[in-house]
This record gives sequence, structure tokens and C-alpha cells, in this order.
Amino acid sequence: MPRTAASTLVSPVPRAADSDRRRTSASVVLRSVLEHGPVARSTIARLTGLSPASVTEHCARLAELGLVRESAVPRRSNGVGRPHVPVDLDDARFLVGGVHVAVPYTTVALLDLRGRVVARRELKHERTDAGWVLARAAEGLAELLAGVPDRRPLGVGVAVGGWVERETGSVVEHELLGWREVPVRELLGARTGLPVHVDGHARALVNGERLFGRARGSRSVLHLFMGNVVDAAFATNDEVHHGPRSAAGAIAHLPVPGGTEPCACGRTGCLQAELSERTLCRRARAAGVTGSANPMHVVAAAAGGDATARRLLVERARATGRAAGLLLDVLNPETVVVTEVGVIHFEDCLAALREAAGTARAADVLPTSFPDSVLAVAGGSVVLDALFRDPLAASPEAI
Ligand SMILES: [Zn+2]
Repeated sequence: MPRTAASTLVSPVPRAADSDRRRTSASVVLRSVLEHGPVARSTIARLTGLSPASVTEHCARLAELGLVRESAVPRRSNGVGRPHVPVDLDDARFLVGGVHVAVPYTTVALLDLRGRVVARRELKHERTDAGWVLARAAEGLAELLAGVPDRRPLGVGVAVGGWVERETGSVVEHELLGWREVPVRELLGARTGLPVHVDGHARALVNGERLFGRARGSRSVLHLFMGNVVDAAFATNDEVHHGPRSAAGAIAHLPVPGGTEPCACGRTGCLQAELSERTLCRRARAAGVTGSANPMHVVAAAAGGDATARRLLVERARATGRAAGLLLDVLNPETVVVTEVGVIHFEDCLAALREAAGTARAADVLPTSFPDSVLAVAGGSVVLDALFRDPLAASPEAI
């Protein structure tokens, strides 16, 4: 039966419910304050396309929740008319907790609403079972919070490598830690009494870069994380791609041309086997650079003039660049951010990375915005992304 004109006018796209629209508008207003604050309400209205009345209403609600406040000094518009009292983030009341679980240790941190690290601590893993690691993380957070009794925690973000399912807040699989189907959100929520958000660390950092780093304003960004775990995340228009069960970004077994390292999967030359920090350290030990398994010791040797250490780091940066180049071809992001120890510390590593990624796009390949605090920022970014996405739900009333 032919469709009538009337039936084709029924939109297949469901209309957003009023509550969804309110949440989205509150999010847009809070993001605008983060990016431009202190900023006049009239400017927010102009930047966001929301009506001045709606902006005023959202600012009042966000101020009630303690997330924004009026700036102390009113600014006059051209010296005439009513003073425009700008609004800004209220960063004196709240904090968020950040937890990043690496293979040898966990980083716990407190961050303010602008993603700045207020306090942090590294907790070495005496054991790697999830129960022990998460209990120790909860203790570590409690110790940090005890140091800032005048500020309340809004929630905790957890960033982990491997396959992490955001929806359920669980780690589906982390080969190196030996974690499988670990309900991180439940376990840590029970221990901290706080709302807990969980995500993969490459995705966490893409959100950190998008909200607080160099990728601000970029319409698409790829983040490549080269630690012991190697993975990637991709965001377009403020949305990080997750795919079914958040399995996107698994690049550990991407073949590296010319690779020689055997991988646990049975093949040779997989990206993670070839370029993990473990492999870097093993090669450095074999070359007599260092006796340690800490990549920072390779960096220190290179900084001290050890040519072999420098060569190993430049080679790793170049191979990382080739992987970045492949992903650039597939995804064509505006910006590529790479978190890798050599690239963070040495200009020639960054140059090797950019050259291997392809000279046409070299300027769009950037080192992490958080060279001194990348793991602390990763954990915090998970919960701050949730806060800026839905500030009304992440309110202190929810605690
Ligand atoms: Zn493999």
C-alpha cells in the first residue's frame, strides 16, 4: 500500500522528552562555562543558541547545585547599561576522585571541576586480583579526601586498560591483570559510597583532551595510548565511539609491518607485543641500558646522553607514528593525540612520530596535554565527562 503524505511526515526520529532536553541544555550551559568562564549569561545564550531566559534558569539551577557561581567582579558592557555579572565554575566546593589501574600500580587522585589534579598517590600492586586492587584504591581515595575536609566528592571515575564496558561499569577482560568480567562500579561503589563511572583509559583520555586539553574545539579526535596496554579511542562531535559492548579501540593486535615480537595471541608483530612499555624495557635491558622494568629509567638514560636509550625511544616513536598513520587513514580525525613516554620527553621522538604518521598531517599529531599527570587525569576525566554530560544527575543531591 502506498504511504500517504501524512504518514511520511511522522518522523522516524523520536522526539526528545522534555527531561532529556533539560539535561542536554544544562550540559551545554555548563560546558560553555567551563570553556569560556567567567562568562556573561548573554554570551552563553549567543554561543549556545539557547534563549537568555533559558540560560538564566539553567545557571540558577547549576548555582543551586553548587556547580557554578557568580564571579566576584561584575564587568560592564561598554561601560553603560546593566552590569553583566559573569558566571564561572564554582571550584571551591566539590572534587572528583580518579582511579587509574595500570599493571604495576594504581594511581588515585582528586581533581577539581576544571580537571586540575589537586592531590594524587601511586599505590603499588602487591597483588593484582581485582578485590585487592579496588579495596586499596578505595583506601587511597579516602586518605586523599581526609586531606581536604572542606570539599565534597561528587563521584569517582575509574580508567582501566583492556576491554572495559562503560554501560555496566565492568572490565570485560584485561589480559595483563588477569581480570575477567569484573564489576568495578559495584565493587568500588560499595567501598566508597560514591557514584562510580568506569571507562577504558584511551577513551577516558580522549575525554580529558576534549574537555581540558589540546583537543578542545576539535570536531574529531583520535587518542592513542602506548603504555603496557596499547589502545585507541575516537571521538566525533563530543561523542566517544564505543560500539557494541564498548569494544571499539582494541588495536593491541593490529599487525606492525616488520614486527618480530611474538604475541600471546599466537601471531608475531602485533602492535601491543611490539610497542608495549614492557617490550621497550626488555630491549633496553638486552642492550645494557638499564636493569629495570620502568620505562622512565630508559627516558632518564636517554636524557643523560645514552645514545642507545635514545635510539630505542626514537624507534618506538616511529613505529607508533606508523600505527597513527594507519588509523589516520581509516578515521581521518582533525586531531591525533598520542600518550607515549618518548614523545612526551624528547623533541626528536615527536619529530619521528610525526614523520612516520605522514607529513601532510604531521601538525595535527600532538603529544598528550597532561605530560605530568596523564594517569591522574585519565581516572578523573571519566567522572568529569559524566558530570559535564549530565550535570543535573551528577548533583550532590544524588549522593
Ligand atoms: Zn597479538
